[in-house]
Amino acid sequence: MATTKPPLTLLIAAPRGFCAGVDRAIRIVELALERYGAPVYVRHEIVHNKYVVDGLKARGAVFVPELDQVPDGVPVVFSAHGVPKAVPAKAAARGLNYLDATCPLVSKVHRQAERLIEQGRHILFIGHAGHPEVIGTFGQVPEGRMTLIETAEDAETVAPADPDTLAFLTQTTLSVDDTAEIIAVLKRRFPTIRAPKSEDICYATSNRQAAVKDIAGRCDAVLVIGAPNSSNSVRLVEVARREGARSMLVGRGADVDFDWLEGVRTLGITAGASAPEVLVREVVARIAERFDVHEEPVEGVEERMVFKLPAGLEAA
Ligand code: SF4
Repeated sequence: MATTKPPLTLLIAAPRGFCAGVDRAIRIVELALERYGAPVYVRHEIVHNKYVVDGLKARGAVFVPELDQVPDGVPVVFSAHGVPKAVPAKAAARGLNYLDATCPLVSKVHRQAERLIEQGRHILFIGHAGHPEVIGTFGQVPEGRMTLIETAEDAETVAPADPDTLAFLTQTTLSVDDTAEIIAVLKRRFPTIRAPKSEDICYATSNRQAAVKDIAGRCDAVLVIGAPNSSNSVRLVEVARREGARSMLVGRGADVDFDWLEGVRTLGITAGASAPEVLVREVVARIAERFDVHEEPVEGVEERMVFKLPAGLEAA
């Protein structure tokens, strides 16, 4: 006798998944493979997603943590998160053919950091220790000219040598709400601190957080498709929880925990900026094995951002 599956309403956030910076970074590796043939080396995961990395590995990309592991004479791509200045300098000194897949929105923060240092400012950088983007941005300025602020508590206790020549910048993939709180503390403590001309948290991060906020209040639980080392994906879990929904991160369909879905009637789904849409459909298909799913349409802002490829690859 056929068993009846329990009903489950799905609200799939919009926008979600790939951003323009991730799209561009993956395309750079693909074009490098087409143009130069395998192997193409990539310093760090090009984007924080195992599915994407495995797909590129299968086509001949070789991922290494450091430039030292790149043999002479092969092309190397730098990841979307950006790299310290020393990395391209070292690649150039070795005569390596390198392609920089740093997201233009991360590069924008790098250039701001350089300018602020030229103007004699000390930078308070809001971000997460150890994230490649933070390492890359710190690597744009001389040592000691930038201080990491991870929390509102750090903002309360930081003791800069000259409180009147400060500026702040932020990582692009932070929590919009947490960052606003940290900035409020900095502005209260250091009224002359210089703010970036425009928000450093990128459009994709802000849009995905707003989209998950929009659905989370109507959901019992929210699944975020993304990797644990993907900053913007982890932030989406936090945003959903703050809105009162249970939330967890899943890499792909096989990771769906049906015990966790017990009692859920309305499930939200979203994907971090480095998670492809194919994984969203895979998760939905997996859930549909046990539930009678009904997808409710969700309206969201339309994203039209497209970044140019590095010179030299466009005509490939
Ligand atoms: Fe660029 Fe934002 Fe995407 Fe990061 S999340 S690659 S900063 S668009």
